[in-house]
Amino acid sequence: MSESKIPEGSKDIRCIVCPTGCLVHVENISGELIIEGHSCKRGEEYAREEFISPKRILTTTMRVEKGFLPLIPVRSDKPIPKDKLEESLKLIAQTQTKAPIKMGDTLIEHILGLDINIIASRDLIEI
Ligand code: SF4
Repeated sequence: MSESKIPEGSKDIRCIVCPTGCLVHVENISGELIIEGHSCKRGEEYAREEFISPKRILTTTMRVEKGFLPLIPVRSDKPIPKDKLEESLKLIAQTQTKAPIKMGDTLIEHILGLDINIIASRDLIEI
């Protein structure tokens, strides 16, 4: 369960859990979340999480030493809180890894102290 503070106000959130794409309205009324427009429990949970603590899978590239290519595409192995994305991107930009690399290799463990790793999105051979 998230420990984040419930934000003020309201938001219309497009549920992306399934292709139906319901538009879910979430509103904080005196600290109680009112959620409407979802068609199922999964959508209600998605909208609640997106309102309280939105997260995204981070995708970017990282510099590689001795690689066949100078950069390798990387991603987070779990969604990262949106307010940590910029700091995570800066850290990845300052980091250089070394070939050879296998898809799924952990290149940064527990980024920013989170239980989230930055992993390689492809193989990269050494030159
Ligand atoms: S609320 Fe349920 S039915 Fe609607 S898009 Fe989300 S998962 Fe699909």
